[in-house]
Amino acid sequence: MGKIHVLSDAVANQIAAGEVVERPASVVKELLENSLDAGATRIKINIEAGGKKLIQVVDNGCGMVRDDAMLAFERHATSKLKTAQDLLSVQTLGFRGEALPSIGSVSRLRLETRSPDDATGTIVEINGGKIARVEEAGLPEGTSITVRDLFFNIPARKKFLKAENTELSHIASLVTHYALAHADKHFELHSATNAVLVAPPVAGPSERVFQIFGKEVLDQLIPLAATVPLDRVGLPQPPPWRREAEEDTVPADPGQLRLHGFVSKPEIQKLNRNSIFIFANGRLIRDRIVQHALTEAYRNIIPPTVYPVVLLFLEMPSAEIDVNVHPAKTEVRFRQQSVVHDFVRDSVRAALMKARPVPQFAAEIRAHPTAGQALTPGASGWDAPSSRPLSAVDSAAWRSVYEPAGGFALQPPSEAPMAERLQFDGGGIAVEANAAVPVARELKLRGIEAIPDYGCAPPLENTDSEPTLEALATLKPLGQIRNSFVLAVNEDGLWVVDQHVAHERVLFERILKQRAAQQVESQRMLMPMVVELTPAQHAVFAEIADELARNGFEAEPFGARSLAVKAAPAGVDAPAVEHLLHELLDQLSSEEQSLNLEKIRARIAASIACHAAIKVNMPLEQNKMEWLLAELSKTEHPMSCPHGRPVVLRYSVKDIQKAFKRI
Ligand code: ADP
Ligand code: MG
Repeated sequence: MGKIHVLSDAVANQIAAGEVVERPASVVKELLENSLDAGATRIKINIEAGGKKLIQVVDNGCGMVRDDAMLAFERHATSKLKTAQDLLSVQTLGFRGEALPSIGSVSRLRLETRSPDDATGTIVEINGGKIARVEEAGLPEGTSITVRDLFFNIPARKKFLKAENTELSHIASLVTHYALAHADKHFELHSATNAVLVAPPVAGPSERVFQIFGKEVLDQLIPLAATVPLDRVGLPQPPPWRREAEEDTVPADPGQLRLHGFVSKPEIQKLNRNSIFIFANGRLIRDRIVQHALTEAYRNIIPPTVYPVVLLFLEMPSAEIDVNVHPAKTEVRFRQQSVVHDFVRDSVRAALMKARPVPQFAAEIRAHPTAGQALTPGASGWDAPSSRPLSAVDSAAWRSVYEPAGGFALQPPSEAPMAERLQFDGGGIAVEANAAVPVARELKLRGIEAIPDYGCAPPLENTDSEPTLEALATLKPLGQIRNSFVLAVNEDGLWVVDQHVAHERVLFERILKQRAAQQVESQRMLMPMVVELTPAQHAVFAEIADELARNGFEAEPFGARSLAVKAAPAGVDAPAVEHLLHELLDQLSSEEQSLNLEKIRARIAASIACHAAIKVNMPLEQNKMEWLLAELSKTEHPMSCPHGRPVVLRYSVKDIQKAFKRI
């Protein structure tokens, strides 16, 4: 007798469940996607015990007639496609017909549904894959699916679930991001008695971000929108002899790639990718191509080790995207990968350049890379009470959901203790140099209100606006703080420029330009300098020797373990040359991924710039400060150094007015 047999449906479903249902959030994802596919405009989700005890999704979608309600639990039963050909043009989020049977096989599931075509609705109950009850009932239009005791029949899987709060935070993040993708729909998420998210329909994505996260987060994001026509159809076309005659004469329109969403300003830096959300045709996906494009877009704007906050919605003809490559449908394959990659990179880069954001004092002092979750609605301490939307969320509920868990969503960095110390009450201004701050704090502390103004301080014209790059060109230097920071003023306010990083940015761009034109300036050493190398450094040197030569180094092996350096890039002092070479070779040898030439060039330029730049603790004459500010204003990206640190801080007129209680 043969050894092979066909698995029973129950076993097959549990195997499929292993792929589709990883944790409560994956159940929510499948049910939410079904509701969206059913055309729902109102979706309410109830959770108990992080979804381990109960997950309920109620929608006002098209519902199911009685026969469909039964069929839905058959494996590969779907209303969303019929033929293999349909797979090429999937418009819905689901299409594999696996979710409901999978979820039903690992829980106690109750479906209540009514289609507008039927007078009565249907209730179906499934326990661990077995149908327990089917009956008619008077029900509202739409569908409600209740999933209790997830994994009750697979103890091994149940054991792997995380703490309730962790699971809930995954669910909250997921629902939030679907709510962001569908601003025109009503979403609610409740956990026991807590309203975690209540988001009625709004006009568009910006309104949604404001509604859920508040003004501060919205202010840290740059909106993005771009379209390009595709010049061909990604799907391979049938050979000419298989084409219909009329199709031959009318070539298909390849359509367009569209993108909208938000990317964060450079001062927002996250230690992991958890704040990057990519949607392709409405589907939340993980995608390496898009991730890579984002890294490229932020190159030299933020350090290579941190990540931005991104909400990206990509839209393209369905022929351009293969959604059938992953059971949970979270991975897709773009048929024209490099077109999508370059489009994302260039659009994001262009938006970053256009916004050329200037870090503000308060934001900078708070800004530090955060590992935790981000984009948490109503994150503590960030929002002035007036900027909190009323309708969206109970921020305490959000906090209780998000705080204990390890990392999904976006959260503005919690305030550093320093910001606390420097914070100006009420105004959110954090500047130690401002003498008004301690005074005002004192008064407030002693319960004395600031002295009212009876007209001795006539209002200033309020011309405060977002500072622009042009603004830098009008800066007048006043002097230095501790020979390290240049103080300057213009109509926009008071600026503090870090002289070292400012010069670093200037040199970095200059070196890259010179390198592109093949001529990085070099200077000869009086005597060749011998630099000892470790074997690892030596190996890297052998690889990048050519590139170093083009960057102004003249160095050759000297003995087995040393280099003789005869010339170095202009501006780098002899004693710094050795340090520079060691640092660079070490950096490149510890790099995990293979570096492409472009990255190597950027690293070399950044290192040279760092070592050649004006140092801190260095007095600068007036004309040198003027020169530095003028050069900085000519750079392409003057607001952050090649390592991602801010170059300038601005204390805006508005902040000054606020501090003096003029506004
Ligand atoms: P898929 O979404 O891949 O088609 P599912 O197992 O998730 O497979 O669902 C099976 C079918 O059940 C769907 O094709 C759809 O017709 C129906 N269905 C599921 N959920 C809903 C819902 N909330 N409203 C209406 N129909 C639904
Ligand atoms: Mg589905």
